[in-house]
Amino acid sequence: MKTLIKNGLVLLLNEEGWRAEKKDLLIEGNRIIRIADAIPSKTEKKAMDASPANGGEKDQRAAVAEKACEVIDAAGKLVMPGLINAHTHAYMTIHRNFADDLAFFDWLDHVDRVEQGMTEEDVYWTTMLAIIEMIRSGTTCFVDMSIKSAKAKSGPMAAVAGAVLDAGFRAVICRGLAGVADSEESLRKYGEAVHEMDLLQDESRLQFVHGPHAPYSCMADYLQKLTQSCRDRGIGQHIHLSESQAEMEGIAKDHGGMTPIQYADSLGVFDVPCIVAHAVYATEDDIRIMAEKGVSVAACPKSNMKLGNGFAPVEKMLAAGVNVCLGTDGCGSNNSLNMFQEMNAAALVYKGANRKAQCVGAGEVLRMATVGGAKAIGREGELGVIREGALADLILIDLHRPQFMPANNILSGLVYSATGNEVDTVMVDGRILMKDGKLTTIDEEKVFEACRGITARLKMEEKMELEA
Ligand SMILES: [Zn+2]
Repeated sequence: MKTLIKNGLVLLLNEEGWRAEKKDLLIEGNRIIRIADAIPSKTEKKAMDASPANGGEKDQRAAVAEKACEVIDAAGKLVMPGLINAHTHAYMTIHRNFADDLAFFDWLDHVDRVEQGMTEEDVYWTTMLAIIEMIRSGTTCFVDMSIKSAKAKSGPMAAVAGAVLDAGFRAVICRGLAGVADSEESLRKYGEAVHEMDLLQDESRLQFVHGPHAPYSCMADYLQKLTQSCRDRGIGQHIHLSESQAEMEGIAKDHGGMTPIQYADSLGVFDVPCIVAHAVYATEDDIRIMAEKGVSVAACPKSNMKLGNGFAPVEKMLAAGVNVCLGTDGCGSNNSLNMFQEMNAAALVYKGANRKAQCVGAGEVLRMATVGGAKAIGREGELGVIREGALADLILIDLHRPQFMPANNILSGLVYSATGNEVDTVMVDGRILMKDGKLTTIDEEKVFEACRGITARLKMEEKMELEA
């Protein structure tokens, strides 16, 4: 199966930075195999062959396109890498617009009450809802942590994986684990997580990592056990660190004045590839440690603002060489999985927080949402970039919108003006998941109905009443 994307403006990245050029793209299977100024479609090739000017000679470029069976006309559109959401909890779409504007631990109580009632099937439908939103706003891969779902029979990862596979999407998933290494419950959850990884390890659109939830919810021996398991399995891990002032104070009190990042480092957590979500309170020393250990930080500016946690020192991390990527966090602490909104927030809040307009520019933010995410999941060069040989995870943006006019600067348009609704077509692993705004693999109404059923069963509607 080949797909030819013609006449588009293609967003490319090289050592000098981003550039947009008029190019055609040929995709075979799940990879981009050719990028050129003009790749003729089958119809165009026939016309060229018939032309006396060709003297009957075969055009090599045309020959490449001979078997192209689907042609997408991208005239007036930008072809760019799909965005990578480097930290979320997809099933938490159930919490969207529920229990807002509460203090962190009050909010957690509401989240817990709902999640204790969620079944494995609920996790499937709420994850599917997340995937719909991600496709519609240009995300093609997400790094997930499923934390709860007490009633799930075989653990929540299988349900998340099921939704990802059914939708034709791509994800890096883990089960959020908490506890002590030798408690019956933590051993059971660890065993389930490993079992699910084994069952699904051959799925090429899924990757697995371990997900120790946080240093305040995992005892030291559990963090060490999970790190050892990462070493044994050759995988990385994904953890929340230095998210709130309360966490900083708690870890310092319990662990000899260390920061959560110093504490995690002391236990060897960074000796395997690691994505740290948040790092809002990272100190200079923490940043040095993360740069030295090759840690990736998933900045989540909207979640950090919504929960009143503050602003991560992203500019300092970038300057120190830390790989910074971008995540939305779950819908309970963001209300949206829209990475265009997240890019917009990232490009604005760090300037405001630092009182410095040159801080974290549009090009850097776009790198965080693409190549930064790809590097964090060990897929640098394969994802987050349009190049020959890369996986065909890409999106088409309709540039014929007022927010892109006049067309002074595409990068600024994407980061400062776009809403995410301009996403027109989405391809993951060479397969079209949305074309001209229509989803091809998911029945949206069925998903909406299933999610309405869950909120009714969990009696969440009372919380939906508007305040006087
Ligand atoms: Zn999170």
